[in-house]
Amino acid sequence: MKKVCKLCKIFVEGTTCPICKGNQFTETWKGRIYVSNSEKSEIAEKVGLKIKGEYAIKTK
Ligand SMILES: [Zn+2]
Repeated sequence: MKKVCKLCKIFVEGTTCPICKGNQFTETWKGRIYVSNSEKSEIAEKVGLKIKGEYAIKTK
């Protein structure tokens, strides 16, 4: 299972989150959304994603 930043909900491959530089991760998540161009993505706007990347929709 890939890990997800608890704060940003972005999928993280290294040891720190690329957005908040934190290291609070969870492996309990549901659904995923890929944001390629946040300005054009209505879904991204709804959930408040501003940086492109792959995000989990729900985390615990
Ligand atoms: Zn983060």
